[in-house]
Amino acid sequence: MMKSEMTGKFIDGTKIADDIKREVSGEVQILKERGIQPGLAVVLVGDDAASSAYVNMKAKTCEQLGIYSRKLMIPRAVTTEQLLAEVQKLNADHAIDGILVQLPLPKHVNKHAILEGVDPRKDVDGFHSANVGSLVLGHETLVACTPSGVMELLNRSNVKIEGANAVVLGRSDDVGKPQALLLMHANATVTICHSKTRNLAEIVRQGDIVVAAIGRTAMVKREWVKPGAVVIDVGTNKVSDRAEIQRLFGDDPGRWKDFEKRGYVWAGDVDERGVKEVASLLTPVPGGVGPMTIAVLMKNTLKAARMRRGL
Ligand code: NAP
Repeated sequence: MMKSEMTGKFIDGTKIADDIKREVSGEVQILKERGIQPGLAVVLVGDDAASSAYVNMKAKTCEQLGIYSRKLMIPRAVTTEQLLAEVQKLNADHAIDGILVQLPLPKHVNKHAILEGVDPRKDVDGFHSANVGSLVLGHETLVACTPSGVMELLNRSNVKIEGANAVVLGRSDDVGKPQALLLMHANATVTICHSKTRNLAEIVRQGDIVVAAIGRTAMVKREWVKPGAVVIDVGTNKVSDRAEIQRLFGDDPGRWKDFEKRGYVWAGDVDERGVKEVASLLTPVPGGVGPMTIAVLMKNTLKAARMRRGL
């Protein structure tokens, strides 16, 4: 069923993300010729360095693709009502097609109220209950970027999804749940696992396709993976312990260079060294799912611009 001749092959998420961005850029150009420029507003609450870096990256990518971008910096002390008012202004703003509220929000802000406050037609993160409902029903809609990115990786790597046993590790609202739905709509037989799942390894071993989104460093081991399976690693875990880096990556010079530079390395939820020996295809961390999320955000902004105008 899978491409078992491709043992140990990595899926190049950076290249696939570049392909998508190039396609989006071409489509944006066509819209511009009709006097339409898609626009994305990113709302950042507080001054968390990681969130700020993500927001800047999103703005930069918009610029590269010809998408108008606006960054709203909101002080951490904002109330739910004040933030909601900002979101509503963006809902009414014709220059804005997509609204992204960077998560996490401070604890005192009602995240649910904010996400539900975004106009579903501008909800490029696909988190609004109306969009989640449409996804459940299989209607065309805006779908969460990371799981959509995983589908792009699978489809563009010619992985046969129809009829495959797909195991999704994790059931979060932003990754696991929408992932399972997307795979089901693509005619996979889907099993969803979580922290209360019994015999996890045994279930994962049934998977022709395994998507790991649990946030547990290198938890999916070689013995858990069926030979020839396609393994998608969504996890992004920071590892700063030298002994653990050695255990996970051995003497890999690239990883140690990263460690010297930053004081940590990124590791996925999959034990890459072991699993690459048995998987037919595997996404690396970094350079697999990560770059896809932002590429799909751009694609969703373009889609929102079109859908809102009935194009
Ligand atoms: P999350 O909200 O923390 O959800 C984690 C899920 O994994 C939960 O459903 C949890 O089960 C399950 N889980 C935790 N420990 C488990 C265990 N020992 N065995 C089985 N299941 C377990 O995380 P998330 O937002 O979905 O993100 C998951 C990972 O993906 C994180 O590392 C995150 O950083 C990464 N991520 C990456 C991107 C990207 O662009 N690359 C985007 C989003 C997320 P329960 O429901 O039972 O608690």
